[in-house]
Amino acid sequence: MNSSTTTSGLTFDIQPSAQRKTPQERAALLESPGFGNVFTDHMVTIRYSEDKGWYDARLEPYGPIPLDPATAALHYAQEIFEGLKAYRHPDGSIACFRPEANAARLNRSARRMAMPELPEELFTGAIETLLEHDGDWVPTKADNSLYLRPFMFATDVGLGVNHPSRNYLFILIASPSGSYFSGGVKPVTVWLSEDYTRAAPGGTGEAKFAGNYAASFLAQAQAVEKGCDQVVWLDAVEHRWVEEMGGMNLCFVFGSGENARILTPGLTGTLLPGITRDSLLKLAPELGIPAEEGRISTEQWREAAASGELTEVFACGTAAVITPVAHVKGSQGEFQIGDGTPGPVTMLLRDELVGLQYGHRSDSHGWVRRL
Ligand code: PMP
Repeated sequence: MNSSTTTSGLTFDIQPSAQRKTPQERAALLESPGFGNVFTDHMVTIRYSEDKGWYDARLEPYGPIPLDPATAALHYAQEIFEGLKAYRHPDGSIACFRPEANAARLNRSARRMAMPELPEELFTGAIETLLEHDGDWVPTKADNSLYLRPFMFATDVGLGVNHPSRNYLFILIASPSGSYFSGGVKPVTVWLSEDYTRAAPGGTGEAKFAGNYAASFLAQAQAVEKGCDQVVWLDAVEHRWVEEMGGMNLCFVFGSGENARILTPGLTGTLLPGITRDSLLKLAPELGIPAEEGRISTEQWREAAASGELTEVFACGTAAVITPVAHVKGSQGEFQIGDGTPGPVTMLLRDELVGLQYGHRSDSHGWVRRL
């Protein structure tokens, strides 16, 4: 039977799935979910039209969405997305980490791509509605979580390319995600990409826009060909200023012990303003580690690693939290950071952040949203 709940003036029409997984089926899928392969029983959809604004909000069974072959997003890539996680806390409750920051970033991406903004209450209302029905999918296993993928795309039917779409569809899906840390934190080797650039000044680099990711696959394939795990993006003009790594931001640790300090590339408009990055910029100083935004070139990276001044490098993002960078390869050869093992600052920050997300540390920032 259908029922409904109301959020910010819009009623969510609840259409429960008649084919929910049984508890046994769900437990089997949660055993070893990997990343992005398994989906929960439901999804939330909300439509937008220029005339009506946001309308027709629903929870419905997870499944295919029929699309006209002339749907605008399929031709002109007007599509943006977000990524955040729901965590199981020790008392059995469920919490999200800074969902309003994801709502705000979705809207910044929307503005860049000439798309309508989604009110924050609808963004969080969609998450609450989905978790009310699919909360049992939030894993209880250590370091596992439920990855939430909100996305929005242009649904006008027609090939006219002179104006943005007048109709959009917002969808929220959820995917249980396994531990990135089974067998310990694994340091990665990175490739400094000089042949390809991710984002140019005035472009779309600071938006979580689907096309940025489509354009990254070839560079990532080149990195793998060069024996690396991940690509590091450099600036589009001089090909020397470090921007970010694959789908994560980068942090450089100079010095050690009481003298350790962190530098992360500043938000120049060509890199994604990561919510993990922002959280670490605030958390590190509270742990006695000064953290600043600035810039670092590939030469400086190489020289500081050789002199020992640079002690650790790590990447940070929602999916893998914190990943140490051990080796760097590029057209000028290769070098190692420290002794190639995860450093103390990397591990301290990882423990602090994971502790907050999973409810093992008290949250003095108001970042953890219990549902
Ligand atoms: N850079 C890029 C290109 C990304 O896709 C992501 C993942 N959203 C990040 C950085 C890290 O952002 P966050 O910490 O918000 O996950």
